[in-house]
Amino acid sequence: MTIQILPAQLANQIAAGEVVERPASVVKELVENCLDAGASRVDVEIERGGSKRILVRDNGLGIAREELALALSRHATSKVASLEDLESILSFGFRGEALASISSVSRLTLTSKTQEQPEAWQAYAEGQEMAVKVQPAAHPVGTTVLAEDLFFNTPARRRFLRADKTEFNHIDEQLRRIALAKPAIHFTLSHNGKLVRQYRAARTDKQHQQRLGAICSHRFAEAAVTLSTGNEQLQLHGCLAIGDGHQGFSEVQYFYVNGRVVRDRLVNHALRQALEMHGQSSDAGYVLHLDLPPQEVDVNVHPAKHEVRFHQARYVHDFILQGLSDAVSQLAGSEMPDIDVDPA
Ligand code: ADP
Ligand code: MG
Repeated sequence: MTIQILPAQLANQIAAGEVVERPASVVKELVENCLDAGASRVDVEIERGGSKRILVRDNGLGIAREELALALSRHATSKVASLEDLESILSFGFRGEALASISSVSRLTLTSKTQEQPEAWQAYAEGQEMAVKVQPAAHPVGTTVLAEDLFFNTPARRRFLRADKTEFNHIDEQLRRIALAKPAIHFTLSHNGKLVRQYRAARTDKQHQQRLGAICSHRFAEAAVTLSTGNEQLQLHGCLAIGDGHQGFSEVQYFYVNGRVVRDRLVNHALRQALEMHGQSSDAGYVLHLDLPPQEVDVNVHPAKHEVRFHQARYVHDFILQGLSDAVSQLAGSEMPDIDVDPA
């Protein structure tokens, strides 16, 4: 075989392998784009577990007509322009891959209107080179992405889709994670034409409490204590609940770093230690938000951005341990052991 450059669609499909695992990953990417665009309301409509149809609509900034084609191309992003930007990233997106990837494995249309533009425009990519067609459309300020027939042209992927119910549950969980981090944003989720979730924007403490209950179970919201601690570098806030020996909360474990949900053993390790220190049962649940300067953490570890690397992992761990330990002792009503937190 001779060496040749892959057609755009094939290159995008290969990249999609990493970003678009299943319908829930499409929803994650699209909803994160809405948040990056400053939306205050996001509606998600799903049909047949997302394999038939995924629609995500927002009231954010929109995309200008001249940029619609770029938005659909790979490595095109409005969020980073330099290595410096990449090292101080605060937006969800930065790889400029999601729309190109999703549109290479589904029938995708992008409809948008900016404040400055009198009319809305719709774009879709077609053919091997994914040439973008743009036509006038009707849409209020904001953006709608519609992805139909996911994996219709990648049968190997399509075979990995599970039952509609299972795929929908993943979407539901994905939205729950995002909604927990963004209480000021109104989210709705519907499946096969039926409204399934509605998370109203929360402003007052009472509304926050209600929303936490709606997302994580009211049992959790009632049992949880809130925690809030910090120094110049690190801030930790959120809530923690410990099971009563009969029913635990281990299904509620959400950890966010600068607003991004991540999987990290560090928190679970610190939690286990905090619970042990106070002789508490291990079936605790938490929603924890850690904020730190973006330079202190690398989010570009994995294309789906599930993982992060802390530059000072030990220091971060001990800081979280201290915060959790205080919360556990509050729940347990016991003495507080002191832990040394030294900058590494
Ligand atoms: P990334 O989010 O990594 O930049 P995407 O492929 O997800 O890459 O999106 C490409 C670009 O399209 C974004 O940088 C942004 O400028 C634009 N875009 C995508 N979705 C939206 C949206 N919902 N509202 C406004 N702009 C959007
Ligand atoms: Mg994106």
